Amino acid sequence: MDFSTFAFHPQVAEGITAAGYLTPTPIQAQAIPAVMAGRDVMGLAQTGTGKTAAFALPILHRLLAGERGRVRALVIAPTRELAEQIHENITTLGARTGLRGMTIYGGVGINPQFAKLKKGVEIVVACPGRLQDHLDQGTIDLSHLEVLVLDEADQMFDMGFFPAIRKILKRLPAQRQTLLFSATMPDEIRGLAQDVLRDPVTVQV
Ligand code: AMP
Repeated sequence: MDFSTFAFHPQVAEGITAAGYLTPTPIQAQAIPAVMAGRDVMGLAQTGTGKTAAFALPILHRLLAGERGRVRALVIAPTRELAEQIHENITTLGARTGLRGMTIYGGVGINPQFAKLKKGVEIVVACPGRLQDHLDQGTIDLSHLEVLVLDEADQMFDMGFFPAIRKILKRLPAQRQTLLFSATMPDEIRGLAQDVLRDPVTVQV
């Protein structure tokens, strides 16, 4: 199997080539068709499996059609380091798409984030605390959100982010695609999955 199987838009296919990816990893082979079909996905996979591209590629493909200048995809991740990694991966894969991404996390000034949001981005990779600040201050509009990714959900639970995530979830459009990734599946993650995923496809590597 190679990436041509998925029939990505040529601008996404060019990003895959530029990244040097030749063969989909197992999580990509399983998850990409489900995500492209618009299904919710529960992905059991650790970092290093290629899970970022498993959600990033179908998101880029989807966002190529439709309106620019609105936040249409949101990835929530536990740490700044992971948020930066995800953002960089999306930037590489999406280099030919013209889609714009940014990171949102605390410990850095909020004004540059506000300025980027004002200029217009389609993909936001955020940590929960600062994202909530933006929502509280009305500096981010998520009313056009189409895809939500909760990455490393078990780590977000361990770090005490679930109350913040539950609050954020209440402010997102109910009509959306949701992808939930976790390395492990304790009861808390099972419970979150039951609350946020609709008729999900489960993929596991
Ligand atoms: P991740 O699990 O998303 O953190 O990805 C781990 C590493 O694998 C990253 O450096 C990716 O750029 C790389 N990667 C992801 N998918 C592929 C692929 N299909 N072929 C080669 N490398 C990949």
